[in-house]
Amino acid sequence: MTEPLPGFPYHPDPLATGSVVAADAVCACCGKARGHVYVGPVYAVEEPGGRLCPWCIADGSAAATYEAQFCGGAVGDDVPREVLSAIAERTPGFSGWQEAQWLLHCGDGAAFLGRVGAAELADHPDAVEAMRQEMSGWGRPAERTEHYLGALDKDDQPTAYLFRCRVCAAHLAYSDFT
Ligand SMILES: [Zn+2]
Ligand SMILES: [Zn+2]
Repeated sequence: MTEPLPGFPYHPDPLATGSVVAADAVCACCGKARGHVYVGPVYAVEEPGGRLCPWCIADGSAAATYEAQFCGGAVGDDVPREVLSAIAERTPGFSGWQEAQWLLHCGDGAAFLGRVGAAELADHPDAVEAMRQEMSGWGRPAERTEHYLGALDKDDQPTAYLFRCRVCAAHLAYSDFT
């Protein structure tokens, strides 16, 4: 029997996104094998000598022990400092082609839903439109923007990262590539 994962308000289903996997490995932080480990990025002063469990991420002990953060940065609205520390220090991150960025909206951190491509984004035209607007601000020709958006792929670059605002429920996304 494995116990239910801790709740992560900013990353509601880390099993679905692939950031947490079922494994027998012992957590480097608490020394227990609890059935699941975190396999996303760790940005730490002192590298943990192994995997971390989601419980040590949820309670902040992994962040405190290793001076670690699990996300590369946050972009969007101004949010309270507590929100940024909850995202960086007590939320499983996710891997991308570049350092992961967390999207913020309506004064709160958005919930990360997973990696997506053009096919998955077809269900979220609001997220696509937000990316289109942002890219048109970069002065890119519309044709190239459409080509880029059409080429987004969940498993190959460029990839988009889908979030949902916890306040207004709008879907948001950004994309990256190497
Ligand atoms: Zn642990
Ligand atoms: Zn919002």
